[in-house]
Amino acid sequence: MASLAVLRALRNHRFFSPSPSPFPHTAAISRLISTLVLGEHEGGFLKLSTLSALSAASSISKDNSISILLGGSGSDLEKAALHAASVHPVVSQVLVADADILTHPLAESWADLVHMVQKKDGYSYIISASNSFGKNVLPRAAAILDVSPITDVIEISETHLFVRPIYAGNAFCTVRYTGSDPCMMTIRSTSFPLLSIPTDAETNAAPISQVDLSTFNKETHGKSRWLKLISQETDRPDLGNARIVVTGGRGLKSAENFKLLDRLAEKLGAAVGATRAAVDANFIQNDLQVGQTGKIVAPDLYMAFGVSGAIQHLAGMRDSKVIVAVNKDADAPIFQVMDVLNNFSQEILK
Ligand SMILES: Cc1cc2nc3c(=O)[nH]c(=O)nc-3n(C[C@H](O)[C@H](O)[C@H](O)COP(=O)(O)OP(=O)(O)OC[C@H]3O[C@@H](n4cnc5c(N)ncnc54)[C@H](O)[C@@H]3O)c2cc1C
Repeated sequence: MASLAVLRALRNHRFFSPSPSPFPHTAAISRLISTLVLGEHEGGFLKLSTLSALSAASSISKDNSISILLGGSGSDLEKAALHAASVHPVVSQVLVADADILTHPLAESWADLVHMVQKKDGYSYIISASNSFGKNVLPRAAAILDVSPITDVIEISETHLFVRPIYAGNAFCTVRYTGSDPCMMTIRSTSFPLLSIPTDAETNAAPISQVDLSTFNKETHGKSRWLKLISQETDRPDLGNARIVVTGGRGLKSAENFKLLDRLAEKLGAAVGATRAAVDANFIQNDLQVGQTGKIVAPDLYMAFGVSGAIQHLAGMRDSKVIVAVNKDADAPIFQVMDVLNNFSQEILK
């Protein structure tokens, strides 16, 4: 690599800093708000994406009664329910839907479940992370409930006012929801930091209730079937949640060279990412693609080797706290964008 530039970028505070108060808009709230968080779990624990959805739910209002809905069966479900009940004092209750068909996140069965729970309990909000689970289930559930979902929310400004990126993250759109309840949304996990537990928090776990599935028609869920999950065995952190990401682009020139990143990632305890050009050139598998049509990441440190910085790539990593770029072309767009952020960081540090 001919030149090395290390550019530090602080987060754009307008959109990405957590609000100084977790409950900024409480004054205008006169009625009790209730929120259903669609929960994902693995190995008996809530996934981090669900904890981010919980964080988003808690930022709507302090008068928010938050329920987490979990589906599946067996001991994993039981363990996950216990985890959900004690994960944070903002959780008011855990709803458990015990059915094999809900173990895998198929849109048909999950959307019907959400519909059924909503009809019974009438939540004001339904929230899920904007990942393959939420993107699959929530729009279908919203269609059944005849409301328009708001996707990819990065900020909850008021109870019905949201900010979401458009044009691959090059602009931010402020959206007011004027529809009827429930207001359904997917949230970008990287924009809602996990909630810390207050020191004076009560230690009581939230109640766990079984969802009555007697009217849940399992026969109607045959349009899609779960076949199998294929995933790479790796000790590395998950790309979506890693604190350090080491990404390679077409500039690495070969799959052989791309393996150099593995060694670096190993030493740093980092996840490996890639540009779409690197994926298309078969340097690496496509589930590691970062960007508009790949994963959205916001690690503490993002290292980009031989990456030009196309807008579609920036859309997936521009929230990273510190960005390191290695590129032989001083005019590569990745430097232009980071220069802007760098100026911003210098202004803040004055
Ligand atoms: C609808 C759509 C969606 C897309 N979604 C994504 C997406 O999700 N993610 C994504 O990444 N892209 C996406 N793309 C593609 C995107 O537009 C770019 O083509 C892609 O990001 C470029 O990848 P790259 O930076 O690896 O390759 P290039 O643009 O070819 O850049 C390679 C860089 O390597 C540098 N280089 C070469 N040799 C060296 C060397 N020896 N040392 C140092 N530097 C070197 C070059 O100067 C150059 O800047 C999408 C495009 C479209 C149209």
